[in-house]
Amino acid sequence: MPVSEPGSDPRDVERTTRQAAASNGPEDSRPYEAPGRVYLVGAGPGDPGLLSARALELIARADTILYDRLIPPTALDGARADAELLFVGRESGGESVPQDQRQELMIARARAGRTVVRLKGGDPFVFGRGGEEALRLREAGIAYEIVPGITAGIAAAAYAGIPVTQRGLASAVALVTGHEDPEKPQSAIDWRGLAAFPGTLVFYMGVRQLPGIAESLIAAGRSAHEPVAIVERGTMPSQRTVTGTLQTIAEEARAQDVRAPSITIVGPVAALADELSWLGPAPLSGLSIAVTRARASASGLATRLESLGARVVQAPVIRTAPILDPTHPAPELEPYDLVCFSSPVGVATLFERLRAAGLDARALAGTRVAAIGPGTADALAAHGIAADVVPERSVAEGLIEVLAEVTPPVRRALIARAREGRDVLPEALRAGGAKVDVLALYETVAQAPPAYVLQEALAADYITFTSASTVRFLMQAAARDNISRGTRIVSIGPITSEALREHGLEPHVEASSHDIDGLVRALLADASMRAR
Ligand code: SAH
Repeated sequence: MPVSEPGSDPRDVERTTRQAAASNGPEDSRPYEAPGRVYLVGAGPGDPGLLSARALELIARADTILYDRLIPPTALDGARADAELLFVGRESGGESVPQDQRQELMIARARAGRTVVRLKGGDPFVFGRGGEEALRLREAGIAYEIVPGITAGIAAAAYAGIPVTQRGLASAVALVTGHEDPEKPQSAIDWRGLAAFPGTLVFYMGVRQLPGIAESLIAAGRSAHEPVAIVERGTMPSQRTVTGTLQTIAEEARAQDVRAPSITIVGPVAALADELSWLGPAPLSGLSIAVTRARASASGLATRLESLGARVVQAPVIRTAPILDPTHPAPELEPYDLVCFSSPVGVATLFERLRAAGLDARALAGTRVAAIGPGTADALAAHGIAADVVPERSVAEGLIEVLAEVTPPVRRALIARAREGRDVLPEALRAGGAKVDVLALYETVAQAPPAYVLQEALAADYITFTSASTVRFLMQAAARDNISRGTRIVSIGPITSEALREHGLEPHVEASSHDIDGLVRALLADASMRAR
């Protein structure tokens, strides 16, 4: 999305001056949301349920969201369809957008008058560099607000059944970065001080440094028998806890292949994990599943898979873009005796157009409404419309069968859908004697996910395809051979499977009911069969 550079518009200068004047003085009465303001927002440790109400509100309003890697997988689902979403985190290998460029980007967007959300995992001020960013914003005269998040050290511990303080066991807790290499002489960590600390030590980062951390603590005087727990992917359904002692933990972690993100908890409270752990294993625990559909429509699927214990890799290869017609925001619906919707996005876009024309659900009062798929029917229901026709099979062919039976027969139909939709439905209706108009409300356009996301998706245990376009666009972003050998390919139905075969990919799993429910059922069945 083009954004004018700061200073390119004289109004920017004026706006910036006003912001500087209004900037965070004690008299600053926080506006609900102010353009040109930057919100440094903590997204919590991973469980989407731990995003704060304020965080959700700001995500929904933002013009621009700059986000890191460690935010909950569904955190951006509530973002506006036209919001600019910029990944500014680290790629697996190194830094993708250097810190100073990230900040300049943020400042440029704010100066252009945009409402900017800088979304970070956990809490922005706990090892999140939020403090540095705030300093830079203050220097640049840009107003900001800090929205705390639940920090991983406390949350992951709680989800593993570890109270970081406990009467009689620990009356203090220290949050420590394990990032510094203990081998380096210039290491900033004061190991003696830490070893002498009278309470729980919570180490962020540093999975690789774990052997060094354990050794340094023992060498500095902490007991080798002190309990230690590592919580990997804390608060996510795929969370895992590995316990041991300072002496054994590095070997334990190696044997169990513990990976980032993980926190390490050192102290007697760590042993409570054995007694107090409460998060049960879920049916898809330990499996990674890639979701390739557009983010806006992926949330339902991602949330379902997450709650079943899967580690979801959101790798949207498409996004939907509304096709706008400012001169005719709303189509004339009166002449039709049937309006068909084929997706929730279609419903949202049509209602958006109705709203722009000062209309509402009553525009559909005189016509029958058909919906392909329960998700589409739900989207209509959210606007107060109970669909008259919802075929059992969630494909155009299913609707054709049902429509052949309706009375009175369809005379004039409007099909509201994506530009690139299939023509079977209009053709079948025309063959049945109806006059049919197709209204293209949106189009799906390719979107290449960040390289590290793509890499994770291609190496996942399962990769899911919910339409032929997800297949086409993934194959644009990656070569067939990049998909790992062990990865199982899941297709929502025959049309998607056909697209896969065209690209030389044979689906391992095909849903027998061609909707999200069916896809999840098929995946669960496959996973449980393979677990045996
Ligand atoms: N600002 C963040 C921390 C950022 S540093 C916060 O307040 O939580 C990144 C480190 O946080 C990771 O290396 C890991 O040690 C820890 N971390 C973040 N999310 C985590 C999670 N879900 N489970 C375990 N550790 C996590």
